[in-house]
Parts: sequence; C-alpha cells; structure tokens
Amino acid sequence: MHTVPAVASVPLPVEPAVPGEPSTQAVIAWYDAHARDLPWRRPGTTPWEVLVSEVMSQQTPVARVIPAWQEWMRRWPGPAELAQAPTAEVLRVWGRLGYPRRALRLIECARSVVEQHDGVLPDDLDALLALPGVGEYTAGAVLAFAHGRRALVLDTNVRRVLARAVGGQALPAPNLNRAERERALHLLPADDATAAHWSVAVMELGALVCTAREPDCTACPWRGDCAWLAAGRPVDVHAGRRRTQAWHGTDRQARGLVMARLREAVDGRPVEAGELVACAARAGSRASGAGAPDPDQPGRALTTLLVDGLIATDDDGAIYRLP
Ligand code: SF4
Repeated sequence: MHTVPAVASVPLPVEPAVPGEPSTQAVIAWYDAHARDLPWRRPGTTPWEVLVSEVMSQQTPVARVIPAWQEWMRRWPGPAELAQAPTAEVLRVWGRLGYPRRALRLIECARSVVEQHDGVLPDDLDALLALPGVGEYTAGAVLAFAHGRRALVLDTNVRRVLARAVGGQALPAPNLNRAERERALHLLPADDATAAHWSVAVMELGALVCTAREPDCTACPWRGDCAWLAAGRPVDVHAGRRRTQAWHGTDRQARGLVMARLREAVDGRPVEAGELVACAARAGSRASGAGAPDPDQPGRALTTLLVDGLIATDDDGAIYRLP
C-alpha cells in the first residue's frame, strides 16, 4: 500500500460533495484491501524512484515494468548516477519496455535535476513540469505518490473509471478535456493525505477492476453508484474518433526490431546496415496479408531512429550502433 506523508496543500480548489454521487471512501477502503504490492509503493521509495516507475508504466504493462525498474534502480538509484550513465547501456536496460524515447528523456531529466536542482528532484509543480519528459500526469503522480500531496493524477485508468462511474460513458474522449479535469477535481478529497490515498486507489481500481475491455462490475466498490452500469453499459460514443494502437506491420514494429538487434550486439559492436534493413523488413513481411510490404519501411525505420537519437552511425550509414 502507498504511504502518504502529510505535507502542505497545493492550491487546488476544494468543492463540496454532492449527495448521491459515488463515494471516494468506498474506493479507498477497496484499495486498502486489494492493492498490489508494487515495489515502488513500498516505504522508503524516493521521489526519483517514483518518477521512473511512472514514466516506465505509462505505456507498458506493470508486469514488464517491475523487473526493468528494479534493474534500473540497482544500476542508477538517483539522478546523479543516471546523468552519467552511457546512453547505450540505458537503452539496453530499457530493453523491451517500448517507446524508448522515454529512456532518453529520463537521462535528460536526470541531467537537468543535477544541473539545476543540485541532484534533488523538486517537489514543486512548476519546477517538475519544466523538466524534460515530465508532463501533467507524471508531475501529479510524483506530488501525490512521493510527497502525499493533493494533486490531479489523471492517467488512462483514472479517466476511464471517472468517465464510467460519474459520466455514464463507456470510455473518456480521446483527448483529456476541461470537463474531465473539473470532474476529477470535484472528487479530489480536500486534505493532502486523503487526496493522495484516493489518487492511488482510483488508479488501482481502473487497473484491476474497471478495465478497458472487461470491467468486473460485480467486484467494484462503486457498483451501486456507477452511472454507466445504471444506464445499462451503453456503447462508446467516441469509438469513431479513436485511433487503434496497431503494432504488426507498423513503423513502430520495424523500429523495435532494429533496436532489439542492436541491444543484442555482443560488446555493443556495430551492425551492418544491410542486416538491420533485413531485421526491419520482417515487420512489413508480417503485414503482407493486408497488402504488399512497404519497401521504404526499413530505411524509414533507420532514418527516424537516427533522428530521434536512439541509434548512431560513424560512417554515414554503413554500420550502426546504440548511441
Ligand atoms: S461498476 Fe463497473 S463500470 Fe462502474 S466503475 Fe465499477 S467496474 Fe467500472
């Protein structure tokens, strides 16, 4: 369970509860009985460790994040260590978490913390938001989960739970909007400790019970108050505007295949462009059932990885290595 030390409030407005709306205490009580024992929730976890766990968890399932986070923290426990780490080594440990630009942003973030904050992650919202790779969600998560503060923490899990239970919709709109923020703020308990407890509890409810595809409403502490359940679980009104997260055959898969080959290179030795093009082409060939493979895809994968700083070449593209 998360420990939530009491510190001063951030200046978010407090709104009165509306009779009959879902109770935050019911979700907090459910969390206390069902929370997973995640390593970054244990007492003694530093704010920096919380930040890394949140960055890793944003687009990756928690089962894959746990071993990577533990290995990462063993090697680079704080910003000072990560700031000096070789980029290739960081990308190797990032491994198969996906979206590896997050790893580069974490290095940049660590360097900023060292250069601008004497190596200590700030606990001020604006200072957090000014760090590379730290957005509204990550900053809120650090304030709530590491410092026990009252902050808006709106990830996809929380947005989904609130869209259903309070908004009566199957899923939230594709992009976070003002009405959602106001809804979340309305439910946020007034005091720091309870607000932080609520933030982790509602997130856990979305991860374990109110899941995207198969919400287990019978196990939900809000089943008696949920607007979506009461309305008969109507369909997703935003379905037409939603982008599907394809993988097979995409440039993202082609880039992942190149990165995997370079991570596996013995002693970080460079790999010839031809071999990497063949690796990347496997993404297109897997999509061939839906049409001919895109002949430009392998070259595009190498070019965009180079532009993103995720791979490097010393001889104008004949061989490549991790940076
Ligand atoms: S009752 Fe079902 S849909 Fe409503 S919040 Fe609970 S799990 Fe989600």
